[in-house]
Amino acid sequence: MHEMSIVAALIDEVRQHTSKHPGARVSVVRLRVGALRQVIPEWLQFCFVTATRDTDLAGVELEIEPVPARARCRLCQRTFAVEDSWFECPGCGALGGELIQGNELELVSLVLAEATCARQ
Ligand SMILES: [Zn+2]
Repeated sequence: MHEMSIVAALIDEVRQHTSKHPGARVSVVRLRVGALRQVIPEWLQFCFVTATRDTDLAGVELEIEPVPARARCRLCQRTFAVEDSWFECPGCGALGGELIQGNELELVSLVLAEATCARQ
Protein backbone atom coordinates (compact mmCIF):
# COMPACT_ATOMS: atom_id res chain seq x y z
CA MET A 1 0.00 0.00 0.00
CA HIS A 2 2.26 2.73 -1.26
CA GLU A 3 -0.72 5.11 -1.37
CA MET A 4 -0.20 5.90 2.32
CA SER A 5 3.38 7.06 1.73
CA ILE A 6 2.22 9.10 -1.27
CA VAL A 7 -0.37 10.77 0.96
CA ALA A 8 2.22 11.45 3.68
CA ALA A 9 4.51 13.16 1.15
CA LEU A 10 1.56 15.08 -0.28
CA ILE A 11 0.53 16.37 3.13
CA ASP A 12 4.12 17.50 3.79
CA GLU A 13 4.07 19.42 0.54
CA VAL A 14 0.69 20.98 1.29
CA ARG A 15 1.97 22.13 4.67
CA GLN A 16 5.03 23.71 3.08
CA HIS A 17 2.69 25.82 0.97
CA THR A 18 0.23 26.70 3.71
CA SER A 19 3.06 27.80 6.02
CA LYS A 20 3.55 30.68 3.56
CA HIS A 21 -0.11 31.70 3.87
CA PRO A 22 -0.81 32.07 7.59
CA GLY A 23 -4.50 32.05 8.41
CA ALA A 24 -5.59 30.57 5.09
CA ARG A 25 -7.40 27.28 5.01
CA VAL A 26 -7.00 24.77 2.23
CA SER A 27 -10.27 23.69 0.63
CA VAL A 28 -9.08 21.61 -2.35
CA VAL A 29 -5.84 19.80 -3.16
CA ARG A 30 -5.35 18.89 -6.82
CA LEU A 31 -3.02 16.07 -7.66
CA ARG A 32 -1.96 14.77 -11.08
CA VAL A 33 -1.32 11.04 -11.17
CA GLY A 34 0.15 9.18 -14.15
CA ALA A 35 -1.28 5.80 -15.13
CA LEU A 36 2.07 4.06 -14.67
CA ARG A 37 2.11 4.98 -10.98
CA GLN A 38 -0.42 2.21 -10.43
CA VAL A 39 -2.22 4.24 -7.84
CA ILE A 40 -5.84 3.34 -7.12
CA PRO A 41 -7.65 6.70 -6.92
CA GLU A 42 -10.33 5.49 -4.49
CA TRP A 43 -7.66 4.09 -2.19
CA LEU A 44 -5.68 7.30 -2.41
CA GLN A 45 -8.82 9.23 -1.43
CA PHE A 46 -9.40 6.89 1.48
CA CYS A 47 -5.80 7.28 2.70
CA PHE A 48 -6.04 11.05 2.39
CA VAL A 49 -9.22 11.22 4.46
CA THR A 50 -7.74 8.88 7.06
CA ALA A 51 -4.46 10.78 7.30
CA THR A 52 -6.09 14.20 7.61
CA ARG A 53 -8.84 13.22 10.02
CA ASP A 54 -8.61 15.20 13.28
CA THR A 55 -6.01 17.54 11.79
CA ASP A 56 -6.34 21.08 10.45
CA LEU A 57 -6.62 19.52 6.98
CA ALA A 58 -9.73 17.50 7.85
CA GLY A 59 -12.47 17.92 5.25
CA VAL A 60 -10.10 19.10 2.54
CA GLU A 61 -11.16 17.76 -0.84
CA LEU A 62 -8.62 15.77 -2.85
CA GLU A 63 -9.03 16.03 -6.61
CA ILE A 64 -7.13 13.47 -8.63
CA GLU A 65 -6.42 14.23 -12.26
CA PRO A 66 -5.48 11.00 -14.05
CA VAL A 67 -2.83 11.23 -16.78
CA PRO A 68 -2.85 8.44 -19.38
CA ALA A 69 0.51 6.94 -20.29
CA ARG A 70 1.95 7.78 -23.70
CA ALA A 71 5.25 6.99 -25.36
CA ARG A 72 7.07 8.16 -28.49
CA CYS A 73 8.73 5.72 -30.86
CA ARG A 74 12.44 6.40 -31.30
CA LEU A 75 12.36 5.16 -34.87
CA CYS A 76 9.24 6.64 -36.49
CA GLN A 77 8.45 9.33 -33.88
CA ARG A 78 4.83 8.17 -33.63
CA THR A 79 3.26 8.74 -30.21
CA PHE A 80 0.98 6.09 -28.80
CA ALA A 81 -0.89 5.08 -25.66
CA VAL A 82 0.80 2.50 -23.45
CA GLU A 83 -0.80 0.17 -20.93
CA ASP A 84 2.25 -0.74 -18.89
CA SER A 85 5.99 -0.23 -18.96
CA TRP A 86 6.45 -2.43 -22.05
CA PHE A 87 6.09 -0.26 -25.14
CA GLU A 88 5.61 -1.59 -28.64
CA CYS A 89 5.11 0.96 -31.42
CA PRO A 90 1.80 0.30 -33.25
CA GLY A 91 3.32 1.94 -36.35
CA CYS A 92 6.58 0.11 -36.94
CA GLY A 93 6.59 -2.52 -34.18
CA ALA A 94 9.78 -1.22 -32.58
CA LEU A 95 10.14 -2.05 -28.90
CA GLY A 96 11.17 0.49 -26.37
CA GLY A 97 10.35 4.06 -27.03
CA GLU A 98 10.50 7.04 -24.82
CA LEU A 99 7.88 7.67 -22.18
CA ILE A 100 6.44 11.16 -22.64
CA GLN A 101 3.72 11.08 -19.98
CA GLY A 102 2.20 8.72 -17.44
CA ASN A 103 4.74 8.87 -14.63
CA GLU A 104 3.43 12.03 -13.01
CA LEU A 105 2.80 12.31 -9.33
CA GLU A 106 2.62 15.97 -8.60
CA LEU A 107 0.71 18.55 -6.68
CA VAL A 108 -1.01 20.71 -9.30
CA SER A 109 -2.62 23.37 -7.15
CA LEU A 110 -4.13 24.20 -3.83
CA VAL A 111 -7.37 26.07 -3.47
CA LEU A 112 -7.31 28.20 -0.39
CA ALA A 113 -10.52 29.23 1.30
CA GLU A 114 -10.90 32.82 2.40
CA ALA A 115 -9.32 33.41 5.74
CA THR A 116 -12.12 33.85 8.26
CA CYS A 117 -10.13 36.26 10.39
CA ALA A 118 -10.22 39.61 8.57
CA ARG A 119 -7.69 42.20 9.59
CA GLN A 120 -8.90 45.77 9.77
ZN1 LIG B 1 7.58 3.28 -34.60
